[in-house]
Amino acid sequence: SIEVVNVNKRFGDFVALDNVSVSIPAGRLTALLGPSGGGKSTLLRIIAGLESADSGKVEIEGVDATNLPPQKRNVGFVFQHYAAFKHLSVHRNVAFGLEIRKRPKDEIRERVKELLDLVHLSQFADRLPSQLSGGQRQRMALARALAVQPTVLLLDEPFGALDAKVRKELRDWLRRLHDEVSVTTVFVTHDQEEALEVADEIVVINEGRVEQIGSPDDLYDRPANDFVMRFLGPTT
Ligand code: ATP
Ligand code: MG
Repeated sequence: SIEVVNVNKRFGDFVALDNVSVSIPAGRLTALLGPSGGGKSTLLRIIAGLESADSGKVEIEGVDATNLPPQKRNVGFVFQHYAAFKHLSVHRNVAFGLEIRKRPKDEIRERVKELLDLVHLSQFADRLPSQLSGGQRQRMALARALAVQPTVLLLDEPFGALDAKVRKELRDWLRRLHDEVSVTTVFVTHDQEEALEVADEIVVINEGRVEQIGSPDDLYDRPANDFVMRFLGPTT
């Protein structure tokens, strides 16, 4: 699980996170949902260790990670615009994290093969990232993040740059992938429908505060306040 306890974050005078506490259950698929500027990415970056909180605590799988650098947190992450190594094949991109950890060649080959099967990119192993579609590239990014067997997978609008049809495909596919590997996963979205359809748990964040945490049914049937009700209500 991920425990965020009383986290505060300011940028200058601006309060980006206002005493945020969230408990994210292990092995589940959790969405951070809220409007633009609400603090979703900031919270995700603090969990990843890419940004430090002004105060408060982050615990990952029982370990106090507050002062650990990202590479010691055992997290994998994928961002909206994924930066692949352009000169490396899909296979090498996925293998990268294992290569720098100096894992045996046979093990790397086997693991990458498994991962490419998992994300249905086996037939594209020798292509360059530029020869993939946007959706295929994001699937490669997921395989790469999963390669080093993170305990936590953090996704910041990983499908945000894609068109609606591809987004929907990838979202269904993320759900299936998660059911197969069941790694604790947190994904950021500002799309209510995406969160309601895919997530086990939803954390609604607005103006640096947690408005509500609950299952899609909880939020939809029992919104904690007007903000959640309006935000989850039908979009016009
Ligand atoms: P979006 O859906 O648009 O990605 P978000 O919920 O991810 O929004 P954040 O990126 O967490 O929002 O930003 C929260 C607030 O903090 C915003 O008002 C943003 O302008 C501000 N902010 C974020 N990063 C910085 C920074 N490095 N310097 C100054 N302000 C920042
Ligand atoms: Mg963001």
